[in-house]
Amino acid sequence: MNKKLQVMKFGGTSVGDAVCIRRSATIVANAAKQFSVAVVVSAMSGVTNRLIDAAHNAKRGDRQAGRAIADALRRQHFEALASLVTADAARVSVERRVDEILAEGSRLYEGTALLRELTPRTLDAISSLGERLCAPVFSAALSQMGVASSAIEATELIVTDAFHGGADPQADPTRQNSQARLGPLLQQGQVPIVTGFIGATPDGVLTTLGRGGSDYSATILGAALDADEIIIWTDVEGVLTADPRLVSEARTIPEISYREAAELAYFGAKVLHPKTLRPVLPAAIPVWIRNSFAPEKLGTKITAQGRSIGGGVKALTAIRDVALISVGGPGIVGVPDVVGRTFSTTAQLRAEVLLISQSSSQNDICFIVAKAHAQETLEALRREFAQDLTHQVVDHITMDPNIAIVAVVGENMRGTPGVAGRTFHCLGREGVNIIAIAQGSSETNISFVVSDESVKPALLATHREFGLGGPTIG
Ligand code: ADP
Ligand code: ASP
Ligand code: MG
Repeated sequence: MNKKLQVMKFGGTSVGDAVCIRRSATIVANAAKQFSVAVVVSAMSGVTNRLIDAAHNAKRGDRQAGRAIADALRRQHFEALASLVTADAARVSVERRVDEILAEGSRLYEGTALLRELTPRTLDAISSLGERLCAPVFSAALSQMGVASSAIEATELIVTDAFHGGADPQADPTRQNSQARLGPLLQQGQVPIVTGFIGATPDGVLTTLGRGGSDYSATILGAALDADEIIIWTDVEGVLTADPRLVSEARTIPEISYREAAELAYFGAKVLHPKTLRPVLPAAIPVWIRNSFAPEKLGTKITAQGRSIGGGVKALTAIRDVALISVGGPGIVGVPDVVGRTFSTTAQLRAEVLLISQSSSQNDICFIVAKAHAQETLEALRREFAQDLTHQVVDHITMDPNIAIVAVVGENMRGTPGVAGRTFHCLGREGVNIIAIAQGSSETNISFVVSDESVKPALLATHREFGLGGPTIG
């Protein structure tokens, strides 16, 4: 009988240096005794940010930026290799590969500095270097432990559209490629180490899946290979009741539904890329979130049903890099197309709208977009409504960047009356002012907008109100 297949993903901190890579490779080596294993790796922590910063410097004409980062990354990866791989021949061959990838990177930086132009396509090629460097190092570390392994670039596997910076995968060709390329390796008992974060268009042009996208790579490949389970190894013990950096008493949730986890990810819980759960829904493949620094802990299991914890509210999250845009004025009452024109404007810009709230008198529509899209959205709306502004049908189009969305999430909130009342009561008690509120008809979340400095008090108050810091259930 075929062995069960696990797809494992290791995030940036889990491959942050030689010690972390060794710890993560040991996790893989242990799993490989029992399962077929395919691995997805991120770039070493901080590398993608540094690559992108250097790209922006090159765009300003800085010709040193590319050289400096290539030197630093060479040192960093060679240093990790020196400590992980003792056999000279194996180490030298990976060093050579690192140099090849960095030479490609240097050409990209030179071109950027020369033209003072950074297209989304070039930025993707530059951002991908971290994963491309990490995979061969991880693979060599595993081989050193006696586990046969090879590094694979996901451009050979994951086929996407051409939307650089946030490409969408195409399931059928990805499935064909992945099974054809990885199937034989897995059959031979090898562990493929695949670069996270990246894919390629049908013509072979490299794309990225969006920042934090290696989680998504893992579930795309898990679905393509019909994996039995997917384990996302990170630096916290699973999905917690709130971001532990903001709420120190946050606890691990033992089991959570796809829907709840997706809501948390959508509203900013960094532990999962927002699209991570999409590929696993049809086959209901379980996804685990576990701590590579404490592999003895079970972490969180994400499943189709999740598990009830009784109280309704499972977790809280906040999303901060956002801005509130409002379009309104008494004159828009009775103007039926204001809503339509507002959101066709955001759609044209591909600016994702994270929350919408409209008062019943229709004299104010407000909605939230990522800060990165806020200024262009504001300008486009002012163009769209120029005539209406002149005739004072619309009397204001404004933007407030100092806000955040807080979301209270839980599938069982649906059958639990009073969650909204308790939420707003406890916020009132803490003196947190609520700027806007939204609750979808699915009732798996209540989200509200507060000023950025109220995020922490809002999270602390609701966390306490719903007893989320209590002893872990299950
Ligand atoms: P990786 O590099 O492994 O992908 P990330 O930094 O992208 O890791 O995501 C893990 C981080 O997500 C944690 O260190 C934690 O600070 C943050 N985080 C935010 N909200 C949550 C949450 N609800 N549960 C767990 N972690 C969270
Ligand atoms: N390295 C990429 C990033 O920093 C992808 C990831 O870590 O998931 O966005
Ligand atoms: Mg991540």
